[in-house]
Amino acid sequence: MENQSEFRKIRSELSKQRSHDYRHLVQRWRAVAGASGVRMRGYATTPDYKLYYLKTKSLGALGGLYVSAGIHGDEPAGVEALIAWAEKNVHILSELPCLLFPCLNPWGLINNRRMDQNGVDLNRIFHLKNLPSIEAMKQLIEPHHFTVSLMLHEDYDGQGLYLYETEYATPFWGEKFVKAARSVIPIDSRTRIDGRKPLKPGIVRRKINLKKFASFGIPEALHLHIQHSERTFTIETPSEFALDQRVAAHMAVLDECLRLVLKDQHQDHLTSATG
Ligand SMILES: [Zn+2]
Repeated sequence: MENQSEFRKIRSELSKQRSHDYRHLVQRWRAVAGASGVRMRGYATTPDYKLYYLKTKSLGALGGLYVSAGIHGDEPAGVEALIAWAEKNVHILSELPCLLFPCLNPWGLINNRRMDQNGVDLNRIFHLKNLPSIEAMKQLIEPHHFTVSLMLHEDYDGQGLYLYETEYATPFWGEKFVKAARSVIPIDSRTRIDGRKPLKPGIVRRKINLKKFASFGIPEALHLHIQHSERTFTIETPSEFALDQRVAAHMAVLDECLRLVLKDQHQDHLTSATG
């Protein structure tokens, strides 16, 4: 009996989380769209699923925030964090300049797989032109140059949160993100992360070597970095940690990022007003 009630408890916890339930995710985004007045539009259709984005009216060609999640389906914390963050900010969402992609690989999310339904790693093909869903996404990105773009990922080898920051605009924001996340999750202190030596705990900051990337395929972050974003981050939470904690970590970074984007905008506004 005791085992059965334990089992029921675990099962109800699991169904509450529903982190791989794409249909449920879309329902939640529809509710956010309805309550915030931000339109949610489809941009592509795979054989079984429709892909969506949200763009607020306050997003212009210059500035603002780009966030995507779920390009790798076995990394659900980013997907959950992005919807939870949008739900939390639903009353101000329409005033925030942003372009959001809630889940780039629904099949992968449902099946808990990194690749899409054709076995393709979507995060290695941004140089190709043959995948309609990625082409449609690139067209949506095309008119924009964002203040910052965030790609939310997870890592099975991770021992805490870490991030990749492309070296371009200063001051760098990586330290601020790590500081914001530290209150909810440990920072990955490994001395080598994915074969690279972090600059500081949790921060892999790098100059982009296009030739190197050409050999294994262009990821989303690089596409953003090359033409469309002043600051580009890949945020990685450790897959083996509790989901709630990973979600909270991504949300802490999103909150801090929003704070910095708004501050940046405010400063630009002051500069143009006085000079
Ligand atoms: Zn990933």
